[in-house]
Amino acid sequence: MALYVFKFGGTSVGSVERIKAVAEKVKKAHDQGDQIVVVVSAMSGETNRLIGLAKDIQAQPNARELDMLVSTGEQVTVALLAMALEEIGCPAFSFTGSQVRILTDSSHTKARIRNIDDSRMRVQLNEGKVVVVAGFQGVDENDNITTLGRGGSDTTAVALAAALKADECLIYTDVDGVYTTDPRIEPKARRLDRITFEEMLEMASLGSKVLQIRSVEFAGKYNVPLRVLSSFTEGSGTLITYEETQMESALISGIAFNRDEAKLTITGVPDKPGVASKILGPIADANIEVDMIVQNIAEDETTDFTFTVHRNDFERAKASLEKTCTELGAKKVTADNNIVKISIVGVGMRSHAGIASTMFRTLASEGINIKMISTSEIKISVVVDEKYLELAVRALHAAFKLDQQAA
Ligand code: ADP
Ligand code: ASP
Ligand code: MG
Repeated sequence: MALYVFKFGGTSVGSVERIKAVAEKVKKAHDQGDQIVVVVSAMSGETNRLIGLAKDIQAQPNARELDMLVSTGEQVTVALLAMALEEIGCPAFSFTGSQVRILTDSSHTKARIRNIDDSRMRVQLNEGKVVVVAGFQGVDENDNITTLGRGGSDTTAVALAAALKADECLIYTDVDGVYTTDPRIEPKARRLDRITFEEMLEMASLGSKVLQIRSVEFAGKYNVPLRVLSSFTEGSGTLITYEETQMESALISGIAFNRDEAKLTITGVPDKPGVASKILGPIADANIEVDMIVQNIAEDETTDFTFTVHRNDFERAKASLEKTCTELGAKKVTADNNIVKISIVGVGMRSHAGIASTMFRTLASEGINIKMISTSEIKISVVVDEKYLELAVRALHAAFKLDQQAA
Protein backbone atom coordinates (compact mmCIF):
# COMPACT_ATOMS: atom_id res chain seq x y z
CA MET A 1 0.00 0.00 0.00
CA ALA A 2 1.37 3.38 -1.00
CA LEU A 3 0.91 6.68 0.82
CA TYR A 4 0.42 9.87 -1.18
CA VAL A 5 0.12 13.49 -0.15
CA PHE A 6 -2.07 15.52 -2.53
CA LYS A 7 -2.24 19.29 -2.40
CA PHE A 8 -5.00 21.35 -4.03
CA GLY A 9 -4.50 25.12 -4.40
CA GLY A 10 -7.03 27.93 -4.11
CA THR A 11 -8.44 27.77 -7.64
CA SER A 12 -8.89 24.01 -7.36
CA VAL A 13 -11.13 24.46 -4.30
CA GLY A 14 -12.57 27.82 -5.44
CA SER A 15 -16.24 26.78 -5.36
CA VAL A 16 -18.48 24.06 -3.96
CA GLU A 17 -18.52 22.41 -7.41
CA ARG A 18 -14.75 22.33 -7.50
CA ILE A 19 -14.52 20.95 -3.99
CA LYS A 20 -16.87 18.17 -5.09
CA ALA A 21 -14.65 17.49 -8.10
CA VAL A 22 -11.59 17.30 -5.84
CA ALA A 23 -13.46 14.84 -3.63
CA GLU A 24 -14.13 12.60 -6.66
CA LYS A 25 -10.48 12.66 -7.62
CA VAL A 26 -9.37 11.82 -4.08
CA LYS A 27 -11.94 9.04 -3.76
CA LYS A 28 -10.69 7.45 -6.98
CA ALA A 29 -7.16 7.26 -5.58
CA HIS A 30 -8.39 6.03 -2.20
CA ASP A 31 -10.49 3.34 -3.88
CA GLN A 32 -7.29 1.89 -5.34
CA GLY A 33 -6.28 1.00 -1.80
CA ASP A 34 -3.71 3.71 -1.18
CA GLN A 35 -3.50 5.92 1.89
CA ILE A 36 -4.20 9.56 1.03
CA VAL A 37 -3.46 12.77 2.91
CA VAL A 38 -4.91 15.87 1.26
CA VAL A 39 -3.67 19.39 1.95
CA VAL A 40 -5.90 22.24 0.82
CA SER A 41 -5.53 25.99 0.45
CA ALA A 42 -8.25 28.53 1.16
CA MET A 43 -10.79 29.15 -1.64
CA SER A 44 -9.19 31.42 -4.26
CA GLY A 45 -9.29 35.08 -3.27
CA GLU A 46 -10.12 34.29 0.35
CA THR A 47 -6.68 34.94 1.86
CA ASN A 48 -6.52 38.29 0.05
CA ARG A 49 -10.02 39.14 1.23
CA LEU A 50 -9.11 38.45 4.85
CA ILE A 51 -5.89 40.46 4.63
CA GLY A 52 -7.96 43.30 3.13
CA LEU A 53 -10.35 43.25 6.10
CA ALA A 54 -7.41 43.43 8.51
CA LYS A 55 -5.88 46.35 6.62
CA ASP A 56 -9.17 48.23 6.75
CA ILE A 57 -8.70 48.24 10.50
CA GLN A 58 -4.93 48.40 10.99
CA ALA A 59 -2.53 49.65 8.30
CA GLN A 60 0.11 47.29 9.70
CA PRO A 61 -2.02 44.50 11.16
CA ASN A 62 -0.83 42.86 14.35
CA ALA A 63 0.99 39.77 13.09
CA ARG A 64 -0.38 37.34 15.66
CA GLU A 65 -3.96 38.43 15.02
CA LEU A 66 -3.41 38.40 11.26
CA ASP A 67 -2.37 34.72 11.48
CA MET A 68 -5.42 34.00 13.64
CA LEU A 69 -7.55 35.60 10.91
CA VAL A 70 -6.04 34.24 7.67
CA SER A 71 -5.75 30.68 8.97
CA THR A 72 -9.57 30.52 8.93
CA GLY A 73 -9.54 30.36 5.11
CA GLU A 74 -8.04 26.88 5.14
CA GLN A 75 -10.21 25.78 8.07
CA VAL A 76 -13.25 26.31 5.84
CA THR A 77 -11.92 24.20 2.96
CA VAL A 78 -10.78 21.23 5.06
CA ALA A 79 -14.22 20.93 6.59
CA LEU A 80 -16.01 21.27 3.24
CA LEU A 81 -13.75 18.74 1.54
CA ALA A 82 -14.17 16.24 4.37
CA MET A 83 -17.95 16.64 4.04
CA ALA A 84 -17.78 16.25 0.25
CA LEU A 85 -15.80 13.03 0.69
CA GLU A 86 -18.19 11.63 3.30
CA GLU A 87 -21.08 12.50 1.02
CA ILE A 88 -19.75 10.25 -1.76
CA GLY A 89 -18.99 7.41 0.61
CA CYS A 90 -15.31 8.07 1.23
CA PRO A 91 -14.54 8.27 4.97
CA ALA A 92 -12.54 11.40 5.82
CA PHE A 93 -11.27 13.35 8.80
CA SER A 94 -10.10 16.95 8.81
CA PHE A 95 -7.38 18.65 10.87
CA THR A 96 -6.20 22.21 11.32
CA GLY A 97 -2.42 22.63 11.42
CA SER A 98 -2.55 23.04 15.15
CA GLN A 99 -4.60 19.85 15.62
CA VAL A 100 -2.06 17.79 13.71
CA ARG A 101 0.54 19.64 15.65
CA ILE A 102 2.58 21.16 12.92
CA LEU A 103 4.98 22.87 15.27
CA THR A 104 6.59 26.06 13.96
CA ASP A 105 8.73 28.86 15.30
CA SER A 106 6.96 32.04 16.39
CA SER A 107 7.69 34.26 13.36
CA HIS A 108 4.10 35.16 12.59
CA THR A 109 3.19 35.40 8.87
CA LYS A 110 6.45 33.68 7.86
CA ALA A 111 6.86 30.86 10.33
CA ARG A 112 9.13 27.88 9.71
CA ILE A 113 8.12 24.33 10.44
CA ARG A 114 10.16 22.69 13.21
CA ASN A 115 8.43 19.40 13.77
CA ILE A 116 5.38 17.45 12.68
CA ASP A 117 3.64 14.93 14.90
CA ASP A 118 2.25 12.22 12.62
CA SER A 119 0.43 10.22 15.31
CA ARG A 120 -3.09 11.67 14.97
CA MET A 121 -2.94 11.40 11.18
CA ARG A 122 -1.70 7.77 11.41
CA VAL A 123 -4.63 6.80 13.61
CA GLN A 124 -7.10 8.07 10.98
CA LEU A 125 -5.17 6.59 8.06
CA ASN A 126 -5.08 3.22 9.79
CA GLU A 127 -8.85 3.39 10.13
CA GLY A 128 -9.04 3.71 6.36
CA LYS A 129 -9.88 7.41 6.28
CA VAL A 130 -8.65 10.12 4.00
CA VAL A 131 -6.87 12.71 6.15
CA VAL A 132 -7.55 16.32 5.14
CA VAL A 133 -5.11 18.90 6.52
CA ALA A 134 -5.29 22.69 6.40
CA GLY A 135 -2.36 24.10 4.46
CA PHE A 136 -0.34 27.22 5.26
CA GLN A 137 -0.69 27.03 9.05
CA GLY A 138 0.94 25.69 12.18
CA VAL A 139 1.20 26.40 15.86
CA ASP A 140 4.08 27.63 17.98
CA GLU A 141 5.14 26.16 21.31
CA ASN A 142 2.86 28.59 23.16
CA ASP A 143 -0.16 27.43 21.13
CA ASN A 144 -0.33 30.58 18.99
CA ILE A 145 -1.55 29.95 15.45
CA THR A 146 1.13 30.78 12.87
CA THR A 147 1.19 30.88 9.05
CA LEU A 148 3.97 29.93 6.67
CA GLY A 149 3.97 32.83 4.19
CA ARG A 150 1.99 33.25 0.95
CA GLY A 151 1.80 30.05 -1.03
CA GLY A 152 2.62 28.14 2.16
CA SER A 153 0.25 25.24 1.52
CA ASP A 154 2.87 23.81 -0.85
CA THR A 155 5.28 23.69 2.08
CA THR A 156 2.69 22.05 4.33
CA ALA A 157 2.22 19.33 1.72
CA VAL A 158 5.91 18.64 1.24
CA ALA A 159 6.58 18.73 4.99
CA LEU A 160 3.76 16.23 5.63
CA ALA A 161 5.09 14.02 2.85
CA ALA A 162 8.52 14.08 4.51
CA ALA A 163 7.11 13.39 7.97
CA LEU A 164 4.93 10.53 6.72
CA LYS A 165 7.62 9.21 4.35
CA ALA A 166 5.08 9.40 1.54
CA ASP A 167 5.76 7.71 -1.77
CA GLU A 168 5.10 10.96 -3.63
CA CYS A 169 3.85 14.49 -3.01
CA LEU A 170 1.51 15.66 -5.78
CA ILE A 171 0.85 19.38 -6.10
CA TYR A 172 -2.43 19.79 -8.03
CA THR A 173 -2.89 23.30 -9.38
CA ASP A 174 -4.44 25.32 -12.22
CA VAL A 175 -1.64 24.57 -14.72
CA ASP A 176 -0.64 21.08 -15.83
CA GLY A 177 2.97 21.33 -14.69
CA VAL A 178 6.01 23.55 -14.52
CA TYR A 179 6.46 25.54 -17.72
CA THR A 180 9.46 27.18 -19.35
CA THR A 181 7.96 30.42 -18.04
CA ASP A 182 4.65 31.59 -16.60
CA PRO A 183 2.12 30.68 -19.33
CA ARG A 184 0.10 33.74 -18.35
CA ILE A 185 2.91 35.95 -19.67
CA GLU A 186 4.07 33.82 -22.62
CA PRO A 187 1.36 31.62 -24.15
CA LYS A 188 4.06 29.79 -26.09
CA ALA A 189 5.57 28.51 -22.85
CA ARG A 190 6.12 24.74 -22.91
CA ARG A 191 5.49 22.25 -20.12
CA LEU A 192 8.58 20.44 -18.89
CA ASP A 193 8.29 16.70 -18.22
CA ARG A 194 11.09 16.97 -15.71
CA ILE A 195 13.07 19.73 -14.10
CA THR A 196 16.06 19.25 -11.84
CA PHE A 197 15.60 20.09 -8.20
CA GLU A 198 18.36 22.68 -8.47
CA GLU A 199 16.64 24.46 -11.34
CA MET A 200 13.27 24.36 -9.60
CA LEU A 201 14.85 25.89 -6.53
CA GLU A 202 16.26 28.75 -8.64
CA MET A 203 12.99 29.24 -10.53
CA ALA A 204 11.02 29.41 -7.26
CA SER A 205 13.47 31.70 -5.54
CA LEU A 206 13.58 34.00 -8.57
CA GLY A 207 9.84 34.47 -8.56
CA SER A 208 8.03 31.52 -10.21
CA LYS A 209 5.14 31.21 -7.84
CA VAL A 210 4.04 27.79 -9.04
CA LEU A 211 5.78 26.35 -5.94
CA GLN A 212 6.62 28.19 -2.74
CA ILE A 213 10.41 28.26 -2.41
CA ARG A 214 10.38 26.69 1.04
CA SER A 215 8.51 23.70 -0.30
CA VAL A 216 11.29 23.10 -2.81
CA GLU A 217 13.96 23.52 -0.12
CA PHE A 218 12.11 21.07 2.07
CA ALA A 219 11.75 18.56 -0.73
CA GLY A 220 15.48 18.77 -1.41
CA LYS A 221 16.46 18.37 2.20
CA TYR A 222 14.28 15.32 2.78
CA ASN A 223 14.37 13.91 -0.74
CA VAL A 224 10.62 14.04 -1.21
CA PRO A 225 9.49 12.90 -4.66
CA LEU A 226 7.58 15.92 -5.92
CA ARG A 227 5.28 16.41 -8.90
CA VAL A 228 3.26 19.39 -10.16
CA LEU A 229 0.11 18.60 -12.12
CA SER A 230 -3.34 19.85 -13.06
CA SER A 231 -6.46 19.47 -10.92
CA PHE A 232 -8.58 19.78 -14.01
CA THR A 233 -6.98 17.66 -16.70
CA GLU A 234 -5.32 14.25 -16.78
CA GLY A 235 -1.58 13.96 -17.33
CA SER A 236 1.63 13.21 -15.55
CA GLY A 237 2.65 16.85 -15.02
CA THR A 238 6.22 17.78 -14.16
CA LEU A 239 8.46 15.66 -12.00
CA ILE A 240 11.06 17.47 -9.91
CA THR A 241 14.03 15.18 -10.30
CA TYR A 242 17.08 14.78 -8.12
CA GLU A 243 19.15 13.12 -10.81
CA GLU A 244 22.22 15.06 -11.80
CA THR A 245 22.19 13.94 -15.42
CA GLN A 246 20.57 16.48 -17.66
CA MET A 247 17.29 15.29 -19.08
CA GLU A 248 17.16 17.68 -21.96
CA SER A 249 20.20 19.15 -23.58
CA ALA A 250 18.76 22.64 -23.27
CA LEU A 251 21.05 25.45 -22.18
CA ILE A 252 18.23 27.24 -20.46
CA SER A 253 15.32 25.49 -18.78
CA GLY A 254 13.19 28.44 -17.89
CA ILE A 255 12.61 32.12 -17.34
CA ALA A 256 11.46 33.45 -13.99
CA PHE A 257 10.45 36.97 -13.06
CA ASN A 258 9.72 38.84 -9.89
CA ARG A 259 7.54 41.93 -9.72
CA ASP A 260 7.88 42.22 -5.97
CA GLU A 261 11.17 44.08 -5.89
CA ALA A 262 12.11 47.75 -5.64
CA LYS A 263 15.45 49.45 -6.25
CA LEU A 264 17.25 52.01 -4.10
CA THR A 265 20.41 53.95 -4.92
CA ILE A 266 22.58 56.17 -2.78
CA THR A 267 25.09 58.25 -4.77
CA GLY A 268 28.19 60.23 -3.88
CA VAL A 269 29.04 58.27 -0.77
CA PRO A 270 32.57 59.10 0.53
CA ASP A 271 34.43 55.87 -0.22
CA LYS A 272 36.03 54.40 2.88
CA PRO A 273 36.31 50.89 4.28
CA GLY A 274 33.06 50.00 6.01
CA VAL A 275 30.74 51.92 3.68
CA ALA A 276 28.74 48.86 2.66
CA SER A 277 28.08 47.90 6.23
CA LYS A 278 27.14 51.49 7.16
CA ILE A 279 24.56 51.49 4.36
CA LEU A 280 23.19 47.99 4.74
CA GLY A 281 23.57 47.67 8.53
CA PRO A 282 20.53 49.83 9.36
CA ILE A 283 18.53 48.04 6.62
CA ALA A 284 19.33 44.67 8.17
CA ASP A 285 18.58 46.04 11.65
CA ALA A 286 15.14 47.01 10.37
CA ASN A 287 14.66 43.35 9.38
CA ILE A 288 14.59 44.18 5.67
CA GLU A 289 16.06 41.61 3.33
CA VAL A 290 18.32 42.81 0.55
CA ASP A 291 18.50 40.91 -2.72
CA MET A 292 20.77 42.29 -5.46
CA ILE A 293 23.66 44.64 -4.61
CA VAL A 294 25.87 46.66 -6.95
CA GLN A 295 28.62 49.07 -5.91
CA ASN A 296 30.46 51.38 -8.31
CA ILE A 297 33.52 53.46 -7.59
CA ALA A 298 33.61 56.93 -9.10
CA GLU A 299 36.83 58.79 -9.87
CA ASP A 300 36.32 61.45 -7.19
CA GLU A 301 36.70 58.86 -4.39
CA THR A 302 33.01 58.54 -3.86
CA THR A 303 30.94 55.47 -4.54
CA ASP A 304 27.41 54.76 -5.78
CA PHE A 305 25.59 51.91 -4.14
CA THR A 306 22.43 50.26 -5.49
CA PHE A 307 20.38 47.42 -3.99
CA THR A 308 16.93 45.88 -4.22
CA VAL A 309 14.43 45.02 -1.48
CA HIS A 310 10.91 43.56 -1.40
CA ARG A 311 8.35 46.14 -2.52
CA ASN A 312 6.54 45.81 0.80
CA ASP A 313 9.68 47.13 2.49
CA PHE A 314 10.26 49.93 -0.03
CA GLU A 315 9.09 52.91 2.04
CA ARG A 316 10.87 51.75 5.19
CA ALA A 317 14.08 51.05 3.30
CA LYS A 318 13.92 54.46 1.62
CA ALA A 319 13.46 56.26 4.95
CA SER A 320 16.37 54.35 6.45
CA LEU A 321 18.61 55.11 3.46
CA GLU A 322 17.74 58.82 3.53
CA LYS A 323 18.84 58.93 7.15
CA THR A 324 22.10 57.16 6.27
CA CYS A 325 22.61 59.60 3.39
CA THR A 326 22.59 62.58 5.76
CA GLU A 327 24.80 60.81 8.31
CA LEU A 328 27.43 59.83 5.72
CA GLY A 329 27.38 63.15 3.89
CA ALA A 330 26.41 61.39 0.65
CA LYS A 331 24.85 63.19 -2.31
CA LYS A 332 21.37 61.75 -2.74
CA VAL A 333 18.99 58.80 -2.65
CA THR A 334 16.99 57.72 -5.68
CA ALA A 335 14.30 55.09 -5.43
CA ASP A 336 12.30 53.15 -8.01
CA ASN A 337 9.54 50.67 -7.34
CA ASN A 338 8.52 50.16 -10.96
CA ILE A 339 11.11 47.58 -11.77
CA VAL A 340 11.05 43.85 -12.39
CA LYS A 341 13.75 41.22 -12.09
CA ILE A 342 13.91 38.74 -14.97
CA SER A 343 16.10 35.65 -14.72
CA ILE A 344 17.10 32.86 -17.06
CA VAL A 345 17.80 29.54 -15.34
CA GLY A 346 19.50 26.37 -16.50
CA VAL A 347 22.12 23.86 -15.39
CA GLY A 348 23.25 23.83 -19.05
CA MET A 349 24.78 27.27 -18.44
CA ARG A 350 27.64 25.68 -16.52
CA SER A 351 29.16 24.16 -19.61
CA HIS A 352 28.32 26.84 -22.16
CA ALA A 353 29.75 30.28 -22.75
CA GLY A 354 27.90 33.09 -24.48
CA ILE A 355 24.57 32.75 -22.73
CA ALA A 356 24.88 36.12 -21.02
CA SER A 357 25.75 37.85 -24.28
CA THR A 358 22.71 36.30 -26.01
CA MET A 359 20.55 37.56 -23.18
CA PHE A 360 21.95 41.11 -23.27
CA ARG A 361 21.85 41.28 -27.08
CA THR A 362 18.22 40.14 -27.12
CA LEU A 363 17.17 42.80 -24.63
CA ALA A 364 19.17 45.49 -26.45
CA SER A 365 17.55 44.66 -29.77
CA GLU A 366 14.15 45.29 -28.15
CA GLY A 367 15.40 48.63 -26.81
CA ILE A 368 15.22 47.44 -23.21
CA ASN A 369 17.68 49.08 -20.86
CA ILE A 370 19.28 46.84 -18.20
CA LYS A 371 19.58 48.52 -14.81
CA MET A 372 21.28 45.79 -12.79
CA ILE A 373 22.80 42.39 -13.50
CA SER A 374 23.67 39.49 -11.25
CA THR A 375 24.85 36.01 -12.11
CA SER A 376 25.45 32.66 -10.48
CA GLU A 377 26.50 29.29 -11.85
CA ILE A 378 23.06 28.42 -13.18
CA LYS A 379 21.24 31.74 -13.55
CA ILE A 380 21.52 35.28 -14.90
CA SER A 381 19.22 37.98 -13.54
CA VAL A 382 18.61 41.47 -14.86
CA VAL A 383 16.56 44.35 -13.50
CA VAL A 384 14.56 46.31 -16.08
CA ASP A 385 11.61 48.72 -16.08
CA GLU A 386 8.41 46.89 -15.20
CA LYS A 387 6.69 48.05 -18.39
CA TYR A 388 9.05 45.78 -20.37
CA LEU A 389 8.17 42.59 -18.48
CA GLU A 390 6.09 40.86 -21.18
CA LEU A 391 8.26 42.04 -24.04
CA ALA A 392 11.48 40.92 -22.34
CA VAL A 393 10.15 37.51 -21.29
CA ARG A 394 8.76 36.76 -24.76
CA ALA A 395 11.91 37.95 -26.54
CA LEU A 396 14.13 35.81 -24.30
CA HIS A 397 11.79 32.83 -24.62
CA ALA A 398 12.16 33.05 -28.41
CA ALA A 399 15.91 33.77 -28.36
CA PHE A 400 16.62 30.64 -26.32
CA LYS A 401 14.10 28.61 -28.36
CA LEU A 402 12.24 27.56 -25.25
CA ASP A 403 9.08 26.87 -27.22
CA GLN A 404 10.90 24.05 -28.98
CA GLN A 405 11.78 20.70 -27.46
CA ALA A 406 15.55 20.40 -27.05
CA ALA A 407 17.19 17.98 -29.48
P1 ADP B 1 -2.28 27.36 -6.41
O1 ADP B 1 -3.40 28.23 -6.00
O2 ADP B 1 -2.71 26.04 -6.96
O3 ADP B 1 -1.23 27.23 -5.35
P2 ADP B 1 -0.61 29.28 -7.77
O4 ADP B 1 -1.33 30.44 -8.36
O5 ADP B 1 0.09 29.49 -6.48
O6 ADP B 1 -1.64 28.07 -7.67
O7 ADP B 1 0.45 28.68 -8.81
C1 ADP B 1 0.07 28.36 -10.13
C2 ADP B 1 0.36 29.53 -11.06
O8 ADP B 1 1.78 29.71 -11.14
C3 ADP B 1 -0.03 29.32 -12.50
O9 ADP B 1 -1.37 29.65 -12.73
C4 ADP B 1 0.94 30.21 -13.26
O10 ADP B 1 0.36 31.42 -13.68
C5 ADP B 1 2.03 30.52 -12.25
N1 ADP B 1 3.39 30.23 -12.75
C6 ADP B 1 4.46 31.06 -12.65
N2 ADP B 1 5.53 30.54 -13.22
C7 ADP B 1 5.17 29.33 -13.70
C8 ADP B 1 5.87 28.30 -14.40
N3 ADP B 1 7.16 28.40 -14.72
N4 ADP B 1 5.19 27.17 -14.72
C9 ADP B 1 3.88 27.04 -14.41
N5 ADP B 1 3.17 27.99 -13.75
C10 ADP B 1 3.80 29.13 -13.40
N1 ASP C 1 -4.02 30.53 1.18
C1 ASP C 1 -2.62 30.90 1.26
C2 ASP C 1 -2.27 31.96 0.25
O1 ASP C 1 -3.13 32.40 -0.50
C3 ASP C 1 -1.70 29.71 1.18
C4 ASP C 1 -1.71 28.99 -0.16
O2 ASP C 1 -2.63 29.14 -0.95
O3 ASP C 1 -0.77 28.22 -0.39
O4 ASP C 1 -1.15 32.40 0.20
MG1 MG D 1 0.38 28.47 -4.73
